[in-house]
Amino acid sequence: MAKGKIIKALSGFYYVKNDDGVFQCRGRGNFRNRNIKPLVGDIVEFEAENKTDGYILEVFERENEMVRPPIANVEQAILVFSAQEPEFSPLLLNRFLVHIEAHHIIPIICISKVDLLTEEKKHEILNYKADYEKIGYEVVLISSKKKEGLELIKSLFDDKISVIAGQSGVGKSSLLNAINPELLIETNEISTHLGRGKHTTRHVELIPIGTGLVADTPGFSSLDFTTIEADDLSLYFPEMKKEMGNCKFRGCTHTSEPKCAVKAALENGEIAQYRYDHYLEFLEEIKSMKRRY
Ligand code: GDP
Ligand code: ZN
Repeated sequence: MAKGKIIKALSGFYYVKNDDGVFQCRGRGNFRNRNIKPLVGDIVEFEAENKTDGYILEVFERENEMVRPPIANVEQAILVFSAQEPEFSPLLLNRFLVHIEAHHIIPIICISKVDLLTEEKKHEILNYKADYEKIGYEVVLISSKKKEGLELIKSLFDDKISVIAGQSGVGKSSLLNAINPELLIETNEISTHLGRGKHTTRHVELIPIGTGLVADTPGFSSLDFTTIEADDLSLYFPEMKKEMGNCKFRGCTHTSEPKCAVKAALENGEIAQYRYDHYLEFLEEIKSMKRRY
């Protein structure tokens, strides 16, 4: 028996990797009855006499589970937001951050295409960087074109399962190719090999990057708040979570209650106004969704 990590799932086969290589495995016969569906990212126990005829015997408990793309045990999400083209959007970034916090995944904020910034715009982006760092987030500025910041972002992938997320066109593929030139060749080879195209079903695969693994499909394709409760929303704003224990009322929504510690922190500048405004906007969105159901 051996232990390994599922790095690819395709047509009923699971590809399990450990120090001895990659083993093609099937799920144990009774998995269906036990309602077990192994996912890419799962740590499993398996048995294999050779590299192509293995069986997964057990799936170990997951740290977390993402639906789109279906991956278990994601530790980190690299959120790529361009400084320009498209213009940096704190509202969209905050929306991503809330979803990532709700999944208990660590976000890394990667601001891309900084080579496009004018001096004035650069100043604005650096202010945002300081704001997010104050909250406790890691922020990396990169330019895949000018090869800036790439060493740092590359080192952040090490030893972890990551997903990359962000709008299309922000430079996610350019980033991955810039930090791992083999990746382009490798992914192309794999897609040809699997005949990926319009007739094949989508599958998820974890691609090696440094000593880490990254999902080859962007994470968090759906960003509506259906699974997030209004009461929990402030937990996903770390700077609000820090204060809310001092609100006078339990279950304070930090909107109009008296003696609210979050509003006090907003007034003395500890909490950024735009972060609070976006909190209110998301809260309204959650409430109006609840009203509809
Ligand atoms: P994706 O959709 O997020 O994967 O984005 P792509 O990697 O395909 O990049 C979208 C566009 O942005 C392409 O035209 C890239 O050439 C361009 N781009 C990507 N990175 C940079 C960068 O660092 N600087 C500049 N100026 N353009 C970039
Ligand atoms: Zn409050």
